[in-house]
Formats: sequence, structure tokens, C-alpha cells
Amino acid sequence: MKNIDFILNLMSEESNDPITPAIYQTSNFRFRDVDSFRVAMADEEHGLIYSRGNNPTLNTLADKLGALEGGKALLFSSGMGAISTAILSVARTGRHALCIEGAYSWTDKIFREILPHYGVDAEIVPGAEIIDHIRKDTNLVYIESPLTKTFELLDIKAVCDAAHSVGAVVMLDNSYSTPLLQRPLEMGVDFVLHSATKYIGGHSDTVGGVVVCREEMYSQLFNNEYLAIGAIMSPFNAWLFLRGLRTLPVRLERISDSAEKVIAFFENCSEVEAVLYPGSHSPEQKKLFSQQMSGISGLFSVVFKNKSPEFMKRFCNSLQHFQMAVSWGGHESLVLPYSLWQNSENSGMARFSIGVERPETLIKDIEQALSAADK
Ligand SMILES: *Cc1c(COP(=O)(O)O)cnc(C)c1O
Repeated sequence: MKNIDFILNLMSEESNDPITPAIYQTSNFRFRDVDSFRVAMADEEHGLIYSRGNNPTLNTLADKLGALEGGKALLFSSGMGAISTAILSVARTGRHALCIEGAYSWTDKIFREILPHYGVDAEIVPGAEIIDHIRKDTNLVYIESPLTKTFELLDIKAVCDAAHSVGAVVMLDNSYSTPLLQRPLEMGVDFVLHSATKYIGGHSDTVGGVVVCREEMYSQLFNNEYLAIGAIMSPFNAWLFLRGLRTLPVRLERISDSAEKVIAFFENCSEVEAVLYPGSHSPEQKKLFSQQMSGISGLFSVVFKNKSPEFMKRFCNSLQHFQMAVSWGGHESLVLPYSLWQNSENSGMARFSIGVERPETLIKDIEQALSAADK
């Protein structure tokens, strides 16, 4: 990868030389003469006309994210804005679309319920089986590696090779890894998607999304679904994400290190049946982990031996430092007790998102909550 520090410091041209980028809080841009207006209107992709297309604050953020992933980035008002726009740009009536089982719930919803409304033959398949379900009429394969509940990995290159052999496009949700831990375009993925809400923003204060793809696909997406659907990021939110991005390397370093310590603690707990994180499931998964990723981030699941809802309730209610909430990737540690409202396959399971606190603080909190829950 190119020098990360350089990418994060890369500035757009600003006449007043501020250290941080300006927020261009404007809906449109003026032209000083008819000729320059006409030239711009003929090529919205490369001009500043209207902020649903280009805006300098968004372009600064998109340039950095594109450089980190090794492609060209477009920004959206949410992760789902990015994901749904990318999917709608590829899915076609009468064609076959595949999605990995266990994908993010609203992504799953698109394949399970929304695409079928438009006559797309959408199918949801578990794990590596997805490769065997690729057919001649498949034109979209949507994957997550790792999944963000059970953290299994897919052989990304093998999925891409199989998909490309029938001319299908591969999309991958890279929110767990960020471009710092996994670079899917290099493994053949065509569209990399992010919920920037998670690690890229990093402070639990902004919702946003990203699509990164290669140049040819970028033009196609920009000039069609991006402009037409209009699920754009606001200039102020782009500025917040630029601020978040500056500390992404230090946050992830700390979070990854703390997560390893908390995972090691759970793995040695008599109350714990299994800890689920990338590479934890089997030697094959471990091999994929070392091939595809350069580390773990801060999200993992724990399966407790005691499956009773009362145990989970006592444990979660006793946590003093971990807060109970959905979402993840922020500075503060969170717990999501899946088992308390989902079906039986999740019994005894909770997901943890490790923040930037001292790992000793987090482990102490878990220790006292476990002994309270054991009573
Ligand atoms: C949160 C999340 C999304 C959706 O992102 P939003 O920013 O909430 O729209 C997509 N994928 C994964 C894996 C997520 O965790």
C-alpha cells in the first residue's frame, strides 16, 4: 500500500492554506461565462456544478478513501445508501444474484425481499457453498468476509475467480476490516463497500457509507445510480469523516491490541464455550485470515456455556463500562446481547465491540459482571 501517512495528510488545493479542509456547505457552483458553464454541463463527473454530483469537501474524503483501497470512491449518506445504490447498479431483472448467508441484516433484506420485487432471481447461500451456486446467468455475487456476527471468512480470490468466469460482478462489505486490514480490490473484488459509520468515523457521531471501485465502473455508477438515487453524504458529515480518518491508524492499532487481550481473557474463562473472531473457527479459517487480512479489529462474539436468558441478562445488566447498544467501531466499548431477542441459533451469544479504553479496565468489568451473573 502507498504510504498511509501521506494519504491521510493529502490535502486538496485550498487558496487560504488551512491545516484542515474547508467545508463547502453549498448546493451549487456558479459559472462566470456561458462557455465554461457549457463545458462543465457536458461532463458532470469532472466538474463542480451541483453538490449531488461533486463537492470539494466530499472529493477530499473520496480521494483519501480511494487511495487507501486502491480504487475510486463515492460517498453516501449511510452504509445502506452505498450498498443499495451499488446493488441496484448491477442487479437486473431475470438475472441471478447471490448473497452470502449471515450478511448484515438490511443487506440480507435487499436480497431476500426487495430484489425479488423487481424480478431478480436472488439466492442466499451459506459460506464457501456460494461458489458452487454461481451459474451462467449469475451477474452479481455479494459477500462479507468476515461476517460480523460469526466472523467466518471466505476465500475472496476463489469467489472472484469463479464469479468472473461467468462475467459476474463481486461486491464485498469491508466495514469490519477498513482498508488498513484488508484490501479486497487487490484480490479481485469489483466493488468494496463500507459503513463509514463504524471505524472510519470512529466516534459514534455520524452515519455514512462508501463505495470503492475501479475507474471504468466509477464513471458508470457516478453518471447513473449515484446521481439518480441521490443518497449523498453532506459536506459537514464528510468533514467529520475526514477528521475520523486522521486517527484511524492509531485507533485501530489500539483497538486491535485490546481486542486480542480481551479475547484471550474470554478464551480462558470457565463460563465461555467459544469466542468467534476471524481465524478462530478452524485451521483453514486461520490460513485464510493470514492470507487475506493483516489483523483483527475490535468486533467479536462470545458464546457462553450458560444459555439461559437470565444469565445473559444478569451479565449485561452488571457491566458498568461496556454500554449496551447496536452499531460498533466507535471509541467506546459496546455489548450486543444477540441471544435476548433473536432465534435459538444465537442462544448464549453476545457481540462485543472494543473501543479505545485501557484493556485492563474492560477485562476487570467483564470479570465482575461474570461473577455477578454466576450468582
Ligand atoms: C452497520 C453496517 C452496515 C450498514 O451501515 P449504515 O451506515 O448503518 O447504513 C452495513 N454493513 C455492516 C457489516 C454493518 O455493520
